[in-house]
Order: sequence, then structure tokens, then C-alpha cells
Amino acid sequence: MQITKLTTYRIPPRWMLLKIETDVGITGWGEPVIEGRARTVETAVQEFAPNLIGKDPSRINDLWQEMYRGGFYRGGAILMSAIAGIDQALWDIKGKALGVPVYELLGGLVRDKMKTYSWVGGDRPADVIASIRKLRELGFDTFKMNGTEELAMIDSSIAIDAAVGRVAEIRAAFGNEIEFGLDFHGRVSAPMAKVLLRELEPYRPLFVEEPVLAENAEYYPRLANSTCIPLAAGERMYSRYEFKRVFEQGGLSIVQPDLSHAGGITECVKIAAMAEAYDIALAPHCPLGPVALASCLQVDFVSHNAVLQEQSMGIHYNQGAELLDYVVNREDFALENGYIKPFTKPGLGVEVDEQRVIEASKNAADWRNPVWRHADGSIAEW
Ligand SMILES: [Mg+2]
Repeated sequence: MQITKLTTYRIPPRWMLLKIETDVGITGWGEPVIEGRARTVETAVQEFAPNLIGKDPSRINDLWQEMYRGGFYRGGAILMSAIAGIDQALWDIKGKALGVPVYELLGGLVRDKMKTYSWVGGDRPADVIASIRKLRELGFDTFKMNGTEELAMIDSSIAIDAAVGRVAEIRAAFGNEIEFGLDFHGRVSAPMAKVLLRELEPYRPLFVEEPVLAENAEYYPRLANSTCIPLAAGERMYSRYEFKRVFEQGGLSIVQPDLSHAGGITECVKIAAMAEAYDIALAPHCPLGPVALASCLQVDFVSHNAVLQEQSMGIHYNQGAELLDYVVNREDFALENGYIKPFTKPGLGVEVDEQRVIEASKNAADWRNPVWRHADGSIAEW
């Protein structure tokens, strides 16, 4: 079997799919994208094409190493996202060629179903509470929401009260019926993170995500020493080599590699295994599309330390398209009380609606995240 062609499709809301074709008619799908930089990742994918065309797609490990090591410069959001989507498509091809789901090729299931959580948008407590009520009807009992809007490096007691008061209202409305994680989204400086973590402790969030930016990861152990709230991070770390530093220095209770950003299935099963050795839980980041989610699930189903799976159904970013719009086998994505079952189809388990993808890719707008500014006009972290 030989790889013959790579085709990319940028599609709404902010995703990109990759189709890899072979000379025997088997095709694999991947989802290489960085939100807001789809065109840059697309170029990187095309630059990897000469490393792939004419090669045997079953030698995933070797192709991965060639893409990673073969170009001298390596790593980072763009290149590792390009490799990630290519890697997913290669696993899809391998599973289809052998007639088994990818998790079978990774040693088989460690669990019968995987717990997912739902994002809750909105910043006003009343809106968040109403949204949670609706999602409870769908069976979800675990949620994630942003912990705060923009916050200055040293901010006021009013800003702290706003962030903490919202969480207090949500806990008061639902008691122990629900669990929720809070995403600080890298918006919070180290000094304010310390304050907020202490103030939020009584409301027992499941975790606080990106309490500070990954580039300030030396603060994770210091913050962990000052709070009993589990700290999570990893969506902006792109390889084992970045994760090994946070494993060594400690502080994180949960790592959240993104299957479309951190080198794909090949890299993320290794990151998951490294985390297991440090007694750190895995909760793959996934605000993306169906191929990314399927790839996450393949890793969750073979990783003992996988605790929660993010998924983007109904997420506030999904303007113009929803997760299942491009999927033929939608029934396989059905959630039961927030759990999802292992896909049984060969490969990643997603039947992509290719016609729909082609249509949607025509004139797809480029998604950009908003640029926020503080009251004084200086740039704020979004
Ligand atoms: Mg996040």
C-alpha cells in the first residue's frame, strides 16, 4: 500500500479536515488545525506531503519520526498540529486496512464507556445556571466554564468578587448534583491565580485549567502548594518533551494534551503513559471536530488514567456548524448520561460526509479569536 494524495478542507466553524488517499482505495481522515491559524497548518501539511507520497502508510512510527526529526527544526503549535492530523489519518488507514478500531491496535479497551463533559458558555450567573439546567436534561452532570473574563495582572476586589460570586451562585443552585471545572484560559497572572484559587476553594471545582499560561509552568508547583484544587493544563503543550518538564517539576493533577495539536495518537498515547507513571490524570482537550474527538476517544479507551473527555457539541465557538454536521454515523456519537461508548467501526470510527465537507469548504470564512484589551488599552489575554 502506498500513500497517493493529501487533500485539506478548511470548514466552518474553525476546523480543517485532511483526507489521505492510498493506491488500494483506502482513505484516512485527520483533523490538523490550530484554531485561528488553519491556513498556516494547511501549508505545513502540504510541506510534509513529499515525506509521505509513495510511502507505506502502515509504517506510522517511522513516518512520524521522519516528519518530526527529518526537518531539523521541530515542535510548536503549527508543525505538531500538522503532524497530528496526518498521524490521525494514518491510524484511520491502518485500522481500516486491518478491519479493526484503532483502540484494538493499541492494546484494547480499558473501560466500557468514557465520561464526557459539556462546556457552558455565558458569563452572567443566571445565563450559566439556565444553560446547565438545559444540559442536565441531556444527561450531563459535569461541566466546564470560563473562570473569569480578562483580569489585570493585579486586579481589584470587585473583579475577584465577580469571578468568585458567579461560581458561588452556581454551586448554590445545584449543590452536589453537578461537578464543574473552571478554565482560567491563561487569562490570569500568577499573583491573581494565587488569590483566586484560595477564594474558589470552598466551592470545590473539579479542577482549574491553565491557572497561568503554559509558558509560566514553573508556577504550577508553587500554586499547587497553595491550594487543594487540582490544577490542569496541556492544551498549549505540543510534545512529550514539553510535558516531561511539567511532569518533572510537578504541580499538575490533570494533563490535557490536544490530539490535534500534540502530534496525534502516536504522541498522545505516550504522553498519557508518562502521565500515568506520575499518577497524573488525562483529560484530552477537544473543542474541535469529529475526527479530533474520535482520536481523543481512541486514546481514552486505552489509557487507565483518562478521567474526562472534552467535546464540542453545543460549544459557544461552534458558529455556523456543529460537531455532527460532517458525520454520517451520528448514532455512534450518542451520549448516554454524559458517557460515550467505543466506536465499533474500523479505523477512527468516523464516517465523514465528504460531499458536505467539500460544500462547506467552499468560501469557508477564516475564524479568528477576539482580541481583548484592558481598560487602559493594553492587550489582554483571551
Ligand atoms: Mg482551556
